[in-house]
Amino acid sequence: MKVRTRVAPSPTGDPHVGTAYVALINYCFAKHHGGDFLLRIEDTDQARSTRESERAILDSLHWLGLSWDEGPDVGGPHGPYRQSERSAIYKRYVQQLLDQGDAFKCFCTPERLEEMRVAQRAAGLPPRYDGLCLSYSPEEIARREAAGEAYVVRMKVPDHGACIVEDERRGKIEFEWKTVDMQVLMKSDGLPTYHLANVVDDHLMEITHVMRGEEWISSAPKHVLLYQYFGWQMPKLIHLPLLRNPDKSKLSKRKNPTGILFYQAMGYLPEALLNFLGLLSNSLPEGQDEMMLLPDMVQRFSLEHIPLGGPVFDVAKLDWLNGRYIRERLDPDQFMQRVAAWGFAPDRLKRIASLSQTRVERLSDLGLLLSFFFAGRLPVAAEQLRAGKMSDLEVRQALALAMWDLDALRAWNVAGIEMVLKRVSELLGKKFRDVARPFYVAITGSPTSVPLFDAMDLLGRDMVRERLRTALDALGAPSKKEQDEWKKLLAATDKEDEAS
Ligand code: GLU
Repeated sequence: MKVRTRVAPSPTGDPHVGTAYVALINYCFAKHHGGDFLLRIEDTDQARSTRESERAILDSLHWLGLSWDEGPDVGGPHGPYRQSERSAIYKRYVQQLLDQGDAFKCFCTPERLEEMRVAQRAAGLPPRYDGLCLSYSPEEIARREAAGEAYVVRMKVPDHGACIVEDERRGKIEFEWKTVDMQVLMKSDGLPTYHLANVVDDHLMEITHVMRGEEWISSAPKHVLLYQYFGWQMPKLIHLPLLRNPDKSKLSKRKNPTGILFYQAMGYLPEALLNFLGLLSNSLPEGQDEMMLLPDMVQRFSLEHIPLGGPVFDVAKLDWLNGRYIRERLDPDQFMQRVAAWGFAPDRLKRIASLSQTRVERLSDLGLLLSFFFAGRLPVAAEQLRAGKMSDLEVRQALALAMWDLDALRAWNVAGIEMVLKRVSELLGKKFRDVARPFYVAITGSPTSVPLFDAMDLLGRDMVRERLRTALDALGAPSKKEQDEWKKLLAATDKEDEAS
């Protein structure tokens, strides 16, 4: 049987290095065995999925040098490859489960479910649907449906016994059925949940090996059961380790940059970043040269060499590797082309030029005015941040609130950034001009510069987050207690927004 693997990102945010890591492993495994590698967009969460995020994910994986045999942009015989375009398919399979008696309609209201959870928590029980709607007669169900009551479809799950999940690298993992929830398969709007769509698609797309992050292990019993209900052959499962910070905590943007676009903006070469991820995905035998391009990674790939211990995303190592690529693998012409593509693409230059035209007397003023566009993290001294009309505490609050709120922005653009910074100044009861000052310093390195929102837009969310974090650290990162208090400020206005 031909090996077929896939990466199935959800387009709900900026492209993450973890997605590239999972994609690379799936790519190498498939290609090592002469198989196919697919890309599927899992956008069942319509409230959080965006086309911009999807575009950015595809672009950044392409930038890294990965390609797929089938996917939303290249098509293929098993399409569509975007789950939002496959609703009719999922409806059919949900109906099959209902007809077989392996799933049931659940009319419980959110309020009832919340009461149930509170009671379970109080009794020290794991949260699990209690099965109330399983007891309804066909007449009762028909009556409720006819009355227009909203319902979801849940899968039935045994009360007793255990489920054995077979993981190709981790061996057998046992779960007691009574700890597995009766998962919602179809929401009240008729759209599927991840679990149903994922299983149906992996089957219809003839995926032979599901290699995904270890955070999905606990979902595996539900998937095993769905394959049984449908009578389908289960693909082989391999749960991959999560990337870690050097202190072994889970890699998260709260601590370190996780966005592929950040590493692009910092000037890492795609082949160096891919090579680095390759070293994290397959431990090399002693003495082998660590520099390898994609074809070498494919050739050397082995499932047995996936390190399960939580590979450390060690930026010092990435720096070392990137330096080697720059010095050893590019001739002067190629280097010049890389520099041009990195920071001097015509569209970018055009925007930067238009921002600066009214602010210079001589073209030579541009160097100092614009250098921050061509830099990574900016060193900022506390004195520079302090020089305005706000207290240290207010500056720290402003930077932190903006950092959190900017992370929550769905689309990264001038209007959104402006909204966030204005909101922060309102929250602190300060003039916008005074609040903007430390942001100018943090983002551009100077209290006056080209328009701030445009600068932030052009630099990108990840670089902005890093610069705000650097500035915040210069004045003192908020303690846990401060974070909790300041987050309440944001939450209070969210409530007001909802109410109005
Ligand atoms: N959409 C899931 C994610 O973004 C995919 C999980 C899977 O590969 O099954 O992590």
